[in-house]
Amino acid sequence: MTATVHLRPGFVQPVWQGHPWVFAQAVARTEGSPAAGDEVIVRDPQGNPLGRGYYSPASAIPVRVLTRDATASLDGDFLAARIAEAAAWRRDVASLPSASHTGYRLINAEGDALPGLTVDVFGDSACVQFGTAGMKRREGAVFDAVMASAGVRRVYEVSSEKHQQREGFTVTDGLVRGDAAGELDFLEGDVRFRVPAPGSEGGGQKTGYYFDQRENRVLVGSLARGRRVLDAYSYVGGFALAAAKGGAREVLAVDSSLHAIEAGQRIAADNGLAGAITHRRGDAKLVMSQLADKRERFDLVVLDPPKLAHNAREVEKATGHYRRLNALAARVLAPGGILVTCSCSGSVSGDVFLRAVAAGLRDANRDAVVLATRGAAIDHPSPVAFAEGRYLKCVVARVP
Ligand code: SAH
Repeated sequence: MTATVHLRPGFVQPVWQGHPWVFAQAVARTEGSPAAGDEVIVRDPQGNPLGRGYYSPASAIPVRVLTRDATASLDGDFLAARIAEAAAWRRDVASLPSASHTGYRLINAEGDALPGLTVDVFGDSACVQFGTAGMKRREGAVFDAVMASAGVRRVYEVSSEKHQQREGFTVTDGLVRGDAAGELDFLEGDVRFRVPAPGSEGGGQKTGYYFDQRENRVLVGSLARGRRVLDAYSYVGGFALAAAKGGAREVLAVDSSLHAIEAGQRIAADNGLAGAITHRRGDAKLVMSQLADKRERFDLVVLDPPKLAHNAREVEKATGHYRRLNALAARVLAPGGILVTCSCSGSVSGDVFLRAVAAGLRDANRDAVVLATRGAAIDHPSPVAFAEGRYLKCVVARVP
């Protein structure tokens, strides 16, 4: 008998609408004694089935629904079919991979109806990250399906400390299928990227690269011709490289991580762009305020800070932070310059973020018109009822 998680009255609507998370406070009682990773059926207070998922007893989200079909078996074949579907629509709808883009997200957890599973493809390698005990328990089926569906030659497992602690499993980064390669090698907009493979020395900041910004980097590349560009919070310089490739006059990339700066310098050199990009290690706020004091001006500024609010309680503080950051960016922006300002804090809504940007611009005595509001790239889908999945905001503005 499959165990059952009964919801409390008043907590049914989101799950019924398609929000895949069952929060602990929504659970009235659990019938049967499911172990971590076991399949469970979720039911409303009347006993009607809402769906089925894996059980994570220690988590604040004890069930993430994988299917509305309470009779489905969430076995290896089920996972393989979902993974194949994800690969198929990326190929057919999104043209991923393509000749000029061979790095992309193959599985975006909830957005691919596979909560607990994130898979990024880097050319002929894939990196798998588990977020739930249930998904981790079926890892063999997942690795095989990724090999088969993505047409890769090797699979790495990468860890996330946050998930491991919450879900009670351990992972060491490393190869789980195929023969090891020292590096992950892929193309983005004809820029060749090489980043250390998971488990190798220097490997593993997240799954190695931030594919969610891919389309925004393509846009920046198309806006960059002849411009002096600042890429603040550059990581390995995805925006900087796109801008340089797009004919920027000069590019400055700033990041606080030595590993990111060194990798970025090497990638620029690999692409014959070393002369076009200056990499500077430092705190982006400090560097921007020094540049402003020296009256340095840029025609295009990209601001892509790390997550500044991790939950609702941190939103107010983060909003102030976004405001100050955007004021600083405005101070180094030449008249008629383009501001590409991003937030990956899911708890900060698009409207709240735009207000912080507007306030920051006013603090710097500037106005702006919004040219585009964008989100994560097409290979980062989210269920329509799952706002948490739409964490990335990218506002493109012209600042006269
Ligand atoms: N724009 C990048 C992704 C940026 S992720 C891309 O397109 O790939 C955020 C980055 O901010 C990380 O690389 C992190 O090292 C860097 N970072 C964090 N705090 C910082 C600080 N105070 N100053 C500069 N960089 C910082």
